[in-house]
Amino acid sequence: MGPSGASSPPRPQSWEAKASPRQAEHSCDWLVVGAGPAGIAAVGKLIDNGVRPGSIAWVDPEFSVGDLGRKWRGVSSNTKVRLFRKFLNGCRSFGYDGERARFALDSLDPQGTCLLENVVEPLQWVTGNLMPKVKAIRSEIAKIESGGGRYVATSPWGAVRAQSVVLAIGAEPVGLGYPLPRIALEDALDAGRAKRAVDPQDVVGVFGSSHSAVMAVRNLIDAGASRVINFYRSPLRYAVDYGEWTLRDNTGLKGATAEWARTKMGSVPEGKLLRVDASAEQVERYLPQCSKVVYGVGFSPRSIPVEGVDLSRYDQRTGVVAQRLYGCGIAFPERVVDRAGNVELNVGIWKFMQYLDRVVPSWLSSSVGQSVRPAVKA
Ligand SMILES: Cc1cc2nc3c(=O)[nH]c(=O)nc-3n(C[C@H](O)[C@H](O)[C@H](O)COP(=O)(O)OP(=O)(O)OC[C@H]3O[C@@H](n4cnc5c(N)ncnc54)[C@H](O)[C@@H]3O)c2cc1C
Repeated sequence: MGPSGASSPPRPQSWEAKASPRQAEHSCDWLVVGAGPAGIAAVGKLIDNGVRPGSIAWVDPEFSVGDLGRKWRGVSSNTKVRLFRKFLNGCRSFGYDGERARFALDSLDPQGTCLLENVVEPLQWVTGNLMPKVKAIRSEIAKIESGGGRYVATSPWGAVRAQSVVLAIGAEPVGLGYPLPRIALEDALDAGRAKRAVDPQDVVGVFGSSHSAVMAVRNLIDAGASRVINFYRSPLRYAVDYGEWTLRDNTGLKGATAEWARTKMGSVPEGKLLRVDASAEQVERYLPQCSKVVYGVGFSPRSIPVEGVDLSRYDQRTGVVAQRLYGCGIAFPERVVDRAGNVELNVGIWKFMQYLDRVVPSWLSSSVGQSVRPAVKA
């Protein structure tokens, strides 16, 4: 377990022993690790709920909107523009209201989808607006220990001592380890980079039938690969928008990718695209024809060693990982059951914001003694 307000765990010996005299130190009430969309929302919601900005430390190696900013800019969104706008306007402390006219996102059709770079641009602006208000530290947390009733997060920058910690550290695409050159998912999902990743003689094996896998299939065909062989475990499934709720909201194909799969995928000549089930026999038969592979088979949460805590055992309704240690974003998604009874993990930036709206007040009420101002309304 993490630090407890009631009984203080012993001071970590390793930290005292390892700290170099020149390393920086900072003490705060709240430490937010990660500056992707979930970390941005966590900082914003803490402030909206009355936490003094000066009592928040925010750590990220780049502050460039996380993986959304670094890897997925050129990807077409599966979310409607209106939900990105709701995210940007859903947090008073973002200060976005007066700035929105600046960004292309605000002139796009609210019911349409867009390139993710359209939402990265205003999110980068929001990041720049929040950074000077909090203690922003460009670094990477290497481990978190408990000491003196606080968490002690160490990084190349130095140590941050915090009463409470929010982890918003994102997730990495999973691989399957076949012995073939791998095209990174972020390259396969970006039409421009996909062109550079394939040669005309390449036969590319794409594993998966998710949104990412189908987008990779499309891009690689458009990029001029000689052939794409799509190994799938489950059939293509589409999200269905019923207005008040969406069937397969997190797992079904949406937007331009769904449209392509519905209307164009069937007419790609078999010479260019072959879809086979990913059984051992089919993989054994067709994988030797491939010169490169792409894995669109899911994401695995990033991790940080936290003394005495197993991050995978977080509460999927409240984000509580341990006492005063919380998780949000794609690394700690909320478990939801839709109206048809399907169990899904909620991933998407507007969902992160709605989740934080619900859980942050309860996180704050377990953080007695911290510096909290009266809440402001979003
Ligand atoms: C291909 C693709 C398309 C998507 N499309 C959409 C979409 O259309 N709409 C939508 O709403 N969502 C979409 N998503 C889902 C989701 O919004 C993104 O995955 C989003 O980037 C997740 O945000 P995050 O903040 O949880 O994680 P990330 O964006 O990964 O950010 C995590 C941050 O934490 C930092 N970090 C990690 N470890 C440490 C450490 N030890 N110390 C300090 N910092 C650390 C990382 O460097 C990174 O900056 C998409 C996802 C993918 C993969």
